Amino acid sequence: MTLDPLLAYARRMDRADGLAHYRKRFEGVASEVVYFDGNSLGRPPVAAIERMQRFMTDDWGGRLIRGWDEAWLQLPTEIGDRIGRAVIEAKAGQTVIGDSTTVLLYKLARAAVDAQVARDPDRREIVLDTDNFPTDRYVLEGIARERGLRVRWIEVELTSGVTPEQLAEVAGPQTALVVLSHVAYRSAYLADAPELTRIAHDAGALILWDLCHSAGSVPIKADAWGFDLAVGCTYKYLNGGPGSPAFAYVRDDLQRVLEQPIQGWFGTADQFGMGPAYQPVPGIRRYLSGTSPIVAMLPMEETLAMIEEAGIAALRAKSVALTQFAIELAEAWLAPLGVTLASPGDPAERGGHVTLHHDAMREVTARLWQRDVIPDYRDPGGLRIGLSPLSTSFEEVHRGFTATVEVLRGILAERAGLG
Ligand SMILES: *Cc1c(COP(=O)(O)O)cnc(C)c1O
Repeated sequence: MTLDPLLAYARRMDRADGLAHYRKRFEGVASEVVYFDGNSLGRPPVAAIERMQRFMTDDWGGRLIRGWDEAWLQLPTEIGDRIGRAVIEAKAGQTVIGDSTTVLLYKLARAAVDAQVARDPDRREIVLDTDNFPTDRYVLEGIARERGLRVRWIEVELTSGVTPEQLAEVAGPQTALVVLSHVAYRSAYLADAPELTRIAHDAGALILWDLCHSAGSVPIKADAWGFDLAVGCTYKYLNGGPGSPAFAYVRDDLQRVLEQPIQGWFGTADQFGMGPAYQPVPGIRRYLSGTSPIVAMLPMEETLAMIEEAGIAALRAKSVALTQFAIELAEAWLAPLGVTLASPGDPAERGGHVTLHHDAMREVTARLWQRDVIPDYRDPGGLRIGLSPLSTSFEEVHRGFTATVEVLRGILAERAGLG
């Protein structure tokens, strides 16, 4: 039997891949498990295991409460600056590790709309798209209710995302804030962030970028693109572990103006003075609220070290090659079974995952999990395949698609038998 040319291609790609050696630096890759969900929860970096053990014995166990003064109080800004440098191209002092993405979204969006309404009481609209991530929609609807504002919805196609034309149509003198995802969680649509930011600014609005699905897989230039505000997950492409805290970016000149709503002692000028009134510390720290989740901040540092070494440009190049290969396999093997691409076909408009549509995909996903092939399912009928560039190999993609076509064929045969 001759070797499947697509398998031969996958092996050639792995041999030529300058990032291939990073795969071994993640736990679990020696097993046969195919992991297609690194965009939801990245694999653990091996180095984080030892780091966590050392933290328990030496840092926590050995230093006890002294650890706060000696190191931990600085970690939110230290790691924030590292993300600024290696992941979002933001100069120091603008990025901090805080709470969950949801809570940071609330704090920054509330700060932004309050400042806008104070400056111009006619700015009463928040612009959002109907396919933005659920938590973004829910948080912003809550803020609108709380502050007596309106949400202006942009309707988007499920296979793409917000275009500059669509934003230009709705942004105007009534817009306080625009909230968009850089990479759409469902379709992987990669928004034109510099252009959309410019359009928001031309309308006098502030813009808050959700970078959850782009941080660590797509180049981001927060400063050069003129971002006002951004938030992003660290447990997806940054492999921080389940529930690892998110990062927030606030452009430095806005830090003097934007007052966050959860006034806690970790954001004050004299935290251990414990004075009678809240006095925010100048700078990015003012967006902290309560005690920082130090334990959950440690694993992501191991991924940041890898990204600092490899560079986002190399990660993006591999990510594009991986999604292209997945689309090629889907066209060769799954399209004849009725599967369609629910992500942009042009890699310049696509992030690090690929969504494939078929009405059997919920069942396909359940059966794949039983076979240790792990994508995820998103309604309606979407098989979502996340291909984390540091930890995924081309042969792994081939293995996953081999299983997918077998499973889908089986389901279709059962259906035909029932008919
Ligand atoms: C994953 C994700 C979130 C998750 O927010 P949490 O507060 O961490 O649950 C938010 N927004 C986007 C776009 C996401 O992809």
